[in-house]
Formats: sequence, structure tokens, C-alpha cells
Amino acid sequence: MQAEEYNRRGKEMVDYITEYLTKIRERQVIPDVQPGYMRELLPENAPLDGENWDSIFQDVEKIIMPGVVHWQSPHMHAYFPALTSWPSLLGDMLADAINCIGFTWASSPACTELEMNVIDWLCKALGLPVHFLHHHPDSRGGGVLQSTVSECTLISLLAARKDKILQLKKLEADTDDSVINSRLIAYASDQAHSSVEKAGLISLVKVRFLPTDENFGLRGSTLQAAIEKDRKNGLIPVMLCATLGSTGVCSFDYLSELGPVCAREGLWLHVDAAYAGSAFLCPELRGSLEGIEFADSFAFNPSKWMMVHFDCTAFWVKDKCKLQQTFSVDPIYLRHDNSGATDFMHWQIPLSRRFRSLKLWFVMRTFGMKNLQAHIRHGVDMAKLFESLVRSDPNFEIPAKRHLGLVVFCLKVC
Ligand code: PLP
Repeated sequence: MQAEEYNRRGKEMVDYITEYLTKIRERQVIPDVQPGYMRELLPENAPLDGENWDSIFQDVEKIIMPGVVHWQSPHMHAYFPALTSWPSLLGDMLADAINCIGFTWASSPACTELEMNVIDWLCKALGLPVHFLHHHPDSRGGGVLQSTVSECTLISLLAARKDKILQLKKLEADTDDSVINSRLIAYASDQAHSSVEKAGLISLVKVRFLPTDENFGLRGSTLQAAIEKDRKNGLIPVMLCATLGSTGVCSFDYLSELGPVCAREGLWLHVDAAYAGSAFLCPELRGSLEGIEFADSFAFNPSKWMMVHFDCTAFWVKDKCKLQQTFSVDPIYLRHDNSGATDFMHWQIPLSRRFRSLKLWFVMRTFGMKNLQAHIRHGVDMAKLFESLVRSDPNFEIPAKRHLGLVVFCLKVC
């Protein structure tokens, strides 16, 4: 395919996408296919000779769409939302064309610098502490875009582990890192997402899931008691992953109680606000952020509720050196003249990184903060309306308090 054909086909593709998304409510959300359905629709091997675009494009409706779950449909009610928007799609279109691999500042200065500025905008828009800002005289931290909240939880645990090992090595220099690792323990509530368990599996750090109160939130006293018990048994508490907006019922751990415990006991406090984070755009929905000043790191998914499509996870740290001491390697082929500049490869697990900030920038500029707030408030209002409808139906009950846009309901068993 050459440039002229790309230009023509690109316009056709935009037409197709526009029609797909504007008429998506007519499609059946969940496909009628069985595992392996595609095997008989595709040839055994890749074609030896190139095929023409028309026949490839026709296969989208024949082979792909029959197996797609239409997440953007208004009839899609599974999971949390994964919203997109026109400016977001345009952002990724441009990012895909530029296709810079922005691992260091030098590998594409605009990729790093737009990300630093836009994530600072987002930090301020959410009312997060200034210690998460790149551009602030009192800040040693900053933000970065990662692919998922799961990855951020793992990154936080790895950073917390490294920091704790370095601290302990000052006291017991001869102890091997792996021995210290085997004594570490991290905490989360019994409502925390499964990615916390996975981070423990990968890092070989034990994770203890603590019971929550009647509102499904983790209390400071529960954490304190667990820490004391574990210390008596020779374990070394290293991190708490607090959840703001849990997956099951959108419950909130009590940051204002947990923060001081973490500070006193030397635990890294990571906050997972995967879904609820977008709601903090609205000042009246920030009650659960009380105590956020204690957080060492914070992550949420604009890719859920903020109309910046997947992948886009915003992640902030209070002390960027603690990330860099965990992830920095310095091969000669990646060095550059501006060594003081931010190199995001030291803030993440992979080397390569996409130009994700373009779509976030386009969305924040196109909608403006007022419209993004209105969008969140509309979602909450719709949930309230739905809740009132469910409550008025004697066949259903609401077993957990509604938070934000999540209404938990179940059929009453007679
Ligand atoms: N944390 C919480 C509280 C979630 O609800 C979810 C997913 O819904 C995740 C983490 C996982 O997010 P990701 O797919 O970005 O890893």
C-alpha cells in the first residue's frame, strides 16, 4: 500500500468507524460464537502473496465483528465502563502515525514533555497533592502514563520492596536481598482487585488481605493490628495497597486512618483508584481523598470513565528517585546529551512506550474540565435514577450502598 491508497483507505476506515460507533446500539452486544470459531474462517497459513485491501476489509464484517463484544454500545452493562470519544480516537491515530518509541527524552522530546505537562494538568484537575507534580518547587515526584492499573500496583510494590531492602541493608549488610524479600509482607483489603494478588505472585512478596468493615472499607486499626502481629512473627511490612472504589461494590478504604499508620510504620502507601479516580474531577466527589497527602503513589484509569480510550493509566509518585532506583539501567546505546531530562524508561517495566498523552491532551482540551465534570455528574445521576427504579421493584434488593455510578443489586430469593 502506498501513500495515495492509504489516504483513500484511511478515509473509508474513518467512515466505517463513524458508522460503527454511531449505529452500535443496533448490534447485538455479546456475540453468538464458541471458542475456536475463527479457526475455520481463516486459512491455515499466512498468504504468500499480498492480498488486495478490498478483500481484507470485507473480512472485518465477516470474520472479526461476529466475535466482537461491543463495549461501546449503550446496551453493554458488563464490567466497568471503558469509554472512548472522538478526540481520543484522533489522538491515537496521530500517535500511531508518529509511532515514536519515547523511552528517553531524546528519543522523542515532545512525547516526554507533553506527558509531563498533561499529567500535571490532570493531577491539578483531580485535586491531588502538589508533591505529585513534575513542575512544582516543593515536589520530588511526578506522574507518568502506564498501560494498566495492574502494572502500576506491581511497579509500586517493586519500588516499595527495593526501598525497604536498601533501608535494611544499612542495618544488615550481609543479608542477601532474597532473604529480606522472603520476610516482606504487603497488605490490601479483602475487596482489593486481583491485580494486588498478582503483584505479590510476581514479586514473591506475601500479601495479606485484611477484613473490611460494614461499608467494605479497610480501617486503620485493622491494618495496625495486622502489622503488629506480623512483626511479632518476624515479617517486615512493606506496602499497603488501598482501594478507592473497589471492583465489587465501589467501596473506599479509609485513607485518613490508613495514611498515618503507613507513615508511622514505614509502609509505602499505594492508592488504587482505577474506576473512581475520574470522579475526583468533581470537587464534591473528593471526600474519600482525605488522607491522600500520605500516599506514596496513586493510580487511576482515565480509560474507564474519562473517555480517554484504553490504554491510558495515570500514575503518580511522591518521590521519583524511588522509582528510578528500582528500574534504572544505563546501557551506553540509550545515553544522550541531556542526562538531566526525564527519561520515562526509568519509571516503568518495559523500555518502549507509546505516545499516550496525545489522546489525553485532545480529550482534556476538546471537552474542557467543565464538560468532563458534567459527564461524571451525569453518570452519577443516571446511577441514582437506576437505583431508585431498582428500589421501587420488590423483586430486587440493593445489598451495598451505591457509590458513584455503580449500583449493586440482586434478585430477591423467595
Ligand atoms: N483495580 C481496580 C479497583 C479495578 O476495578 C480494576 C479493574 O476494573 C483494576 C484494578 C484493573 O485495572 P487494569 O485493567 O487497568 O489493570
